[in-house]
Amino acid sequence: MAVKAAAANTEKGRAVADAVLASLQRYEIAPTPDNYALWYEYHAGQNPGLRRTIDILVFNNSSFDEKTLRDLKQTYLYAKEEESALRESALKLQNTLQQMVGSAARLAAPSDLRDEVERIRYLVEEVVRESRQLARSVRLLRYEPGESAATIEALENHLARALRDACLDGLTGLANRKAFDSAIHRLAGESMNSGQDLSLLLIDIDHFKQVNDGWGHCAGDAVLCHLAKVLQQSVRGGDHVARYGGEEFSVLLPRTDASSAFAVGENIREALAREPRPDFTPPMASLTVSIGVSCYEAGEPLSDWVRRTDTALYRAKREGRNRVQLA
Ligand code: GH3
Ligand code: MG
Ligand code: MG
Repeated sequence: MAVKAAAANTEKGRAVADAVLASLQRYEIAPTPDNYALWYEYHAGQNPGLRRTIDILVFNNSSFDEKTLRDLKQTYLYAKEEESALRESALKLQNTLQQMVGSAARLAAPSDLRDEVERIRYLVEEVVRESRQLARSVRLLRYEPGESAATIEALENHLARALRDACLDGLTGLANRKAFDSAIHRLAGESMNSGQDLSLLLIDIDHFKQVNDGWGHCAGDAVLCHLAKVLQQSVRGGDHVARYGGEEFSVLLPRTDASSAFAVGENIREALAREPRPDFTPPMASLTVSIGVSCYEAGEPLSDWVRRTDTALYRAKREGRNRVQLA
């Protein structure tokens, strides 16, 4: 029975975790622990006020920007932390009252005081019963202690896996297209706020079809992983490398103007020529890429920016491949 109940709890927890994840993606919310906690409260349905407020925000098509999320957490999440402090006080009070009941029972009181002591004892016991009930119902609002360790651990594992699946490319381990879409929104917003440059590289493997045709699909996959590694080694910490699709990759370069981005593209080309290629029989003669580069123009629609960069990439292809082309 207990095992069945625990399994049902874990299943329920997973369904909630999936719903939380879907919401974070749909409303483009960063998957931080406190955002996760907020949406867990929403989907677990334990907080009617939070549920109503979020439903209204969704109905009004409001954006869940940082300020809105902070307000929601302040109002509905951190209040719960205070509730746990309250619970602790209630438990302390309960202990004190229990001690009082013990002392009252030990009183060797004269007979005319005995009735009064009994009355007080009854009242105090009543308070203890009430406060015990209060502590239990407050605890029920949270997770049950027996359930929590296993369920939360299963949930965390599930969440970590789901987050990884949702944001990472399964073959190369780079960010995937979905993660690129959310990074480009975030970084373009930051660039407009700060006035600092933001550049984009679109990188496409030259004649990749020949790799698949000549050495097989597994070799093609190994080449994709090799390029992913070279790209990661060629950029700085704040840069965002993604598998944009098939054999195309993207690099977002914050605080980088077009000419510096062009230099990053050249570095990538050189690193690819320098690094030992995956070991195939017969050995691959060369592995090159063509790269389109452009810098974001504040206020420009993101799709226009990507299209400009893509046009530069195709010019690099037309003009002979294995080259970097500025938009
Ligand atoms: P170009 O220089 O013009 O870019 O030529 P290309 O051969 O690289 O371009 P094309 O678009 O003709 O071919 C891309 C190939 O990439 C075709 C597709 O089968 C292959 N491809 C896409 N994704 C994967 C993958 O995940 N693994 C492997 N092995 N091949 C892939
Ligand atoms: Mg291509
Ligand atoms: Mg190609």
